[in-house]
Amino acid sequence: MPSRASSVFATLLTLVLLAGLSGAVLAADAVPGLDAASARAAERLVATHGEAERVRIERGLAQMRPLWRERDGDAAAFENAAVRVFVPKGPALDASFERLEAAMEAVDGYMSSLRRDLQRGQHLDLGPKLVVDDQLAALAPGAHIGEDLFAGGVGWTVLMNFAGSTLEEREAQGESWTRRRWAEARLVEGFETRVPGEVQAQIAAAFSNAGSYMGDYYIRMDHLRDPAGETLFPEGLRLITHWNLRDEIKGRYGVDDGLRQQRVVADVLEAIVRQTIPAAVVDNPELDWQPSTGKVWPEGADASREPDTRYARWMDVFHAMRGLDAYDPRYPNLVERSFARGREMSLERVRGLLVDVLSDPLAKEVAAEISQRLGRELEDFDIWYAGFRPSASHDEAALSAKTRALYPDAAALDRDLPRILETFGFSPERAAFLGERIVVDNARGAGHAYGPARRGDNAHLRTRVREGGLDYKGFNIAIHEFGHNCEQIFSQVTIDHTLLAGVPNNGFTEALAMIFQERDLEALGVAEKSPDAWAYHALEEFWATREIAGVSLVEIDAWIWLDAHPDASPAEFRVAVVEIAQRVWNSYFAEALGVRDSVMLAVYSHFVQYGFYVPNYFLGHLIAFQVGDHFRTLEDKSFGAEFERVSQLGRIAPDAWMRAAVGAPLSAKPLLERARQALPALAKSGDR
Ligand SMILES: [Zn+2]
Repeated sequence: MPSRASSVFATLLTLVLLAGLSGAVLAADAVPGLDAASARAAERLVATHGEAERVRIERGLAQMRPLWRERDGDAAAFENAAVRVFVPKGPALDASFERLEAAMEAVDGYMSSLRRDLQRGQHLDLGPKLVVDDQLAALAPGAHIGEDLFAGGVGWTVLMNFAGSTLEEREAQGESWTRRRWAEARLVEGFETRVPGEVQAQIAAAFSNAGSYMGDYYIRMDHLRDPAGETLFPEGLRLITHWNLRDEIKGRYGVDDGLRQQRVVADVLEAIVRQTIPAAVVDNPELDWQPSTGKVWPEGADASREPDTRYARWMDVFHAMRGLDAYDPRYPNLVERSFARGREMSLERVRGLLVDVLSDPLAKEVAAEISQRLGRELEDFDIWYAGFRPSASHDEAALSAKTRALYPDAAALDRDLPRILETFGFSPERAAFLGERIVVDNARGAGHAYGPARRGDNAHLRTRVREGGLDYKGFNIAIHEFGHNCEQIFSQVTIDHTLLAGVPNNGFTEALAMIFQERDLEALGVAEKSPDAWAYHALEEFWATREIAGVSLVEIDAWIWLDAHPDASPAEFRVAVVEIAQRVWNSYFAEALGVRDSVMLAVYSHFVQYGFYVPNYFLGHLIAFQVGDHFRTLEDKSFGAEFERVSQLGRIAPDAWMRAAVGAPLSAKPLLERARQALPALAKSGDR
């Protein structure tokens, strides 16, 4: 997981990207007479600067108008502000752009390093955690800077002088844009929304409520009874939906009694989606429950179903996110906004990619292969089949012995970073350059990569080194985070425009991190993985990408339904989601798996607590595969230079990035082609 120093603007946009809704709404405190004032300002400015500037003047006014509030002044104040801040084309405009770019880098960069310093006690292993650690981490020093930038006039100067863009423009013209044009678009984007604190607070509260509802949703596995009345899970096993439950299904392949256990888990998941689960059994060690029948023990205990709380919490998030509609004039609709701002791709484009993956006939062949490996007919939960692995793998204990000896502490890993980069094909000069700018810290959690947001700052690789040294699992994660760090340095420190720092969306930085992670054994000087590794990887990715594509389609259609039925009851919403899940299942999964009407695709907790996020995982899989495929074809010697080149493309549009990086737009083709080659390759090598 990366932690990019999200800009103060991005903080707002993150919420926005999590949002979606309908109907343009005027902000409650819109100022009367703005249109006339705007027309007067245009005439005054054209009179001063000439007709040649009219287009820029009118664009600037159109960008300013929807964001002007009562507290900014009356219509006359608007007119005067617009006239005062306008700068005609020429050296002063270019210099203004450069000043703003440097200033935004400073604001974001220092805020980010300040936040990182405040979070030290929470993130780093500095000994027992103190009360003050959480207090300091909760400070939000940049919370008001967005409004301050408007109050001081900076926001108006940006909106009046530089060109924003729509998603359609970025998709249609972005490839012919100059880097400066892209940087301007990102500059303006930071000022396109002004979300009042109370609206942000409502959104935060809805997310927090949904998060704590899902966060407490544990199933007592040792109190579940299968259809025969038996208890199949070990004493004390308590699993959270849906992550642990899904992983329990994944982990039960090839285990004694595994199939019976998987079926019980699948019944639990279905009861959660349909809300037939008795409310009283959630995280309750006093009650036994038989998911296949709904019966509860001891006899007479309250078995009444959960009252659609899952759907109520989800709708709370929807209503809160809808509150942004009035404050995002460019994208006043929640669904459209979540694609245009969050994913930078249109709904149609994403749906097209989803259908490319889901409708590929290869699914039937891969399903048949899985059925043969399992020696049984498939069931709906087999969308989580996770058995595509080479038969001979490395011995993890031996690898851990090696990593522990190499890395007794964080400092040892820190010193070794340049050497690792050289084994990956970075030049000694670039390896040293990166090594100097990446600091390894001993983390409390599993690890993360904290990137710099200004050029003088370092990237931080957070990893957990326990007593006795770094084990192999930890090393593998550290190499993933290291990949994030290298991308962060190139895309912030050596990039041409810091307004373009970063990547188009999370999928891209995850792809670049995974490219590092896949090569972790090379860094240890251990021989290649199995020659069939690529084929297993392709099949595993195909199956997993298909699963998340189905889940994404359900989530998209559920949000579109909400957008069209904002006044629905939670019960009505539940009925709609069940129907949507079954429709998607029957269209794309029923034939391959031989099961109809499953609701399994609707069980993700993300739906409830993360607000329209799952399609990002789908895009992440495609991006990772396509970028990874490109890197797999490279000579080792060019790996470092190529990694640097693509990292410096920065935050342009996803398709523009992909074309510049690998020569083709984002596509499911590389994944589908590799997966198609994989089955015959494995049959030939006899490793099946
Ligand atoms: Zn990551």
